[in-house]
Amino acid sequence: MFTLSPLPFALDALSPHISARTLEFHYGKHHQAYVDNLNKLTSGLEWENKSLEEIITQTKDRPEQAAIFNNAAQTFNHNFFWNSLRPAKNPSAPAPEFLEMIKKDFGDLEKFYAEFKSAALSQFGSGWAWLVKTTAGLKIIKTANADSPFSPEEKPLLTVDVWEHAYYLDYQNRRGDFVDAVMRHLWNWDFAARNL
Ligand code: MN
Repeated sequence: MFTLSPLPFALDALSPHISARTLEFHYGKHHQAYVDNLNKLTSGLEWENKSLEEIITQTKDRPEQAAIFNNAAQTFNHNFFWNSLRPAKNPSAPAPEFLEMIKKDFGDLEKFYAEFKSAALSQFGSGWAWLVKTTAGLKIIKTANADSPFSPEEKPLLTVDVWEHAYYLDYQNRRGDFVDAVMRHLWNWDFAARNL
């Protein structure tokens, strides 16, 4: 049985960048639905006692398991997204060594933000933008729909959900403004540093 992980902050903690109303739907309805669907799809099957990570790894690229993959991956992705954020009144910044890594791979923090925003905007349709750690250094990637950067070569550090349900109530079609707000005001750099 899979359960919805508790949100690591109050529903209004991300306001004014992400409203409580958006979180009521995004966490309370969309994220909850992925968990509920995963439970229905795995009930009585070998999958029901596996971890999300095991399910994602073992159902990826298997078209006959697409529904289980999609709901497991979206459950994982949303857990990761909420952990990527922290309350607006308590912002964080990259620690000195982390900032050095960003400078080495992207030039400076503003260039990194610009590159991340560009990746998030160029994801056609639903998906995710991610900062990942690879053996060659930090890298920005985007994934479509439920896909996660889930491989030994790419370890996720931070993400932004760019499905329309993540921003439409607050930003309508302005995905770029949403991504800017998340990167600059809500990202939890301490969480990212723990995964370095
Ligand atoms: Mn979402």
